[in-house]
Amino acid sequence: MVLAQAAVFLSTLLAMSFLIGRLVVNRLEQMNFEIRKVGRETRDGRVTVEGDDEISELSSQINEMLMAVAVSASEIESQREELVYINESLEQVVRERTNSLEQMNSVLQHALDGIGELTSEGQFLQVNATLGNLLDDEDLPGKYFEDWLSDESKILWHQAIIRLNYDYRVEVELVLNSKASGHQELQCVLIGIGNECIGLETIHIFAKDVTSHRQTQRDMENQIRRDSLTGLGNRTFLNERLEHYLQVQGSTVAIVFVDLDNFKLINDSRGHKVGDLLLRSVAELMTCAADDSIEIARMGGDEFTLLVTGKDVLNRAEAFAIKLQKIFVDPIDLIDSYAFVSCSIGIARGEAGVTSAVDLMRDADTAMYQAKTNGKAGYAIYDDAMNKMVHDRLHLEEGLRTALDNEEMFLVYQPLIDLKTREVIGVEALLRWVHPELGLISPVRFIPVAEETGLIVPIGAWVIEEALRAVKLLEMEYGLSLQMNINLSQRQLTSPSICEFIQEKLKENSVDPSTITLEVTESMAMEDIDGTIEILYRLKSGGVGLAIDDFGTGFSSLSYLQKLPIDKVKIDRAFVQYLGEDERHTDVIEAIIKLCDALDLIVVAEGVENSDQSELLQNLGCPIGQGYLFAKPMNLRALETFLLEKIQSTQAA
Ligand code: C2E
Ligand code: CA
Ligand code: CA
Repeated sequence: MVLAQAAVFLSTLLAMSFLIGRLVVNRLEQMNFEIRKVGRETRDGRVTVEGDDEISELSSQINEMLMAVAVSASEIESQREELVYINESLEQVVRERTNSLEQMNSVLQHALDGIGELTSEGQFLQVNATLGNLLDDEDLPGKYFEDWLSDESKILWHQAIIRLNYDYRVEVELVLNSKASGHQELQCVLIGIGNECIGLETIHIFAKDVTSHRQTQRDMENQIRRDSLTGLGNRTFLNERLEHYLQVQGSTVAIVFVDLDNFKLINDSRGHKVGDLLLRSVAELMTCAADDSIEIARMGGDEFTLLVTGKDVLNRAEAFAIKLQKIFVDPIDLIDSYAFVSCSIGIARGEAGVTSAVDLMRDADTAMYQAKTNGKAGYAIYDDAMNKMVHDRLHLEEGLRTALDNEEMFLVYQPLIDLKTREVIGVEALLRWVHPELGLISPVRFIPVAEETGLIVPIGAWVIEEALRAVKLLEMEYGLSLQMNINLSQRQLTSPSICEFIQEKLKENSVDPSTITLEVTESMAMEDIDGTIEILYRLKSGGVGLAIDDFGTGFSSLSYLQKLPIDKVKIDRAFVQYLGEDERHTDVIEAIIKLCDALDLIVVAEGVENSDQSELLQNLGCPIGQGYLFAKPMNLRALETFLLEKIQSTQAA
């Protein structure tokens, strides 16, 4: 029984192993064979295990896998080809880049600019030959750039490196001051290499040697600030220095403004060469008189400005002014001649943060102007009263510009009297101005302003026209033929075509030239004696009479009188005033009358106020007088009445 059961079990086992052999093992072996075949023989082969079980299922899955592998393989192949292509292109690019880098390197090595790379600490990594030459060192890598720099430039260099942390590009000018390089100035462009995370890594430097260029620039700038004639600073120099001091907190400065009083006269009469020599000598004298804290500039013409800095500037400026006045007492040596020069000096004090340069210069100018008004050859220190004076003057000037158009001016006439017969010989036309706010202003006040501004030329032209109209009117209405004296200022006398203008107006009004006498002041005639003589001759040839006004005040030599083509001399009021009281005045008048007699000139005494003066003048031989004793200046209507009354009283007598 047991055996039978074992036999059945064995036969079942055999049958099962046979079945497994046929159904599983054989098929697996077949599959194995197929798979090997696929790997060995074909790429796109298939595993063929037929049936309808897991093994055939497995073979079909293997087939799917094989399909996928086949697709990937072809993709890999195409990518491989692509990679080969890319690789070849890259190699080409690398070859080209290497070529161009080599060329670039050659360019860098031979560039005119020094080029280099430094660490962020300023240590050279690599440089081109030019930079090596600039620093005179063939072995720069590893060395620090700052070792070549001047102390000031070391600071600039460190500041530039700090800035490179924020700016990509920084420009800086550095001065080399090492033993090797000597003094050189480099214009450098720095490029910072790095990024925000790691910060500045390296610095690229491009440096150009600008030493000679900068030197030329400095020379030119110096020339711009120098006065070529005297070698002193010029206006630009002074303005810069003044601006500089006025920016230094707490500093005080004083301006000493020097103007030569009679330079023009010397320059005109003795020529420009002498004029230049004189200016150079004056510059030298000033330089010797000044200490180191005084800077001197020539502002142009005969104007010099000194800038006093340091302590106690006002007192030192005043002391300098006094010193200068003393120096100018002696004649100035002009190699083969001498010249006497005086100067008027204006002083003003300024404070940093309080005074502007423009205001300070203006104040010094005002003070100088005051010194001139005070009688030249002196100095004045600016104060607020002067400011008021300037303000008033500007106000006058403004008013003068529109005075004629607004018909604010008119003429008055003062008779000239024959001292013996008391007859009216003629009249002098005197200008009057009624200012809309200030009322009647004396010509003593406004004529100088008109002269300075040049407004005297149109105003004077109007005076001539108006006076000629008056002559014509008196002649037409009353048959009066009257001598008319007209005052001419220096500006008018030297204005172009003055002779032609007068002739034209005489013709226009059909006035006989011989009825007109032009009055020219003595000081005016003396200012440019040769020029004045020439113009006076031309005027004279037009037929008009000429008189020297205010005679005795101009300190001119009496011998000049015979050089001038004049007919009359008017003795200044200042002499007539003290006639009889002060003997010297009487002597002067006597001398003038005698001289005029000898030269055939008619003498007129101005400012006769009382009969004593009139009598004395007559006794001294003076034929004509003018003054309040006989008549005050009056308008045309009053003059008409005055003249008619005179005629009537003469006729009655
Ligand atoms: P001037 O030419 O010497 O004129 C004489 C001045 O003395 C006048 O002053 C006149 O009014 C004044 N006068 C006359 N007699 C007496 C007197 O007895 N006593 C006193 N104390 N003074 C007397 P005015 O009119 O004020 O003129 C002053 C100056 O202004 C003139 O001096 C002249 O230089 C200038 N001027 C006046 N009109 C003109 C003008 O039309 N053109 C120019 N360029 N200057 C003028
Ligand atoms: Ca006069
Ligand atoms: Ca006069």
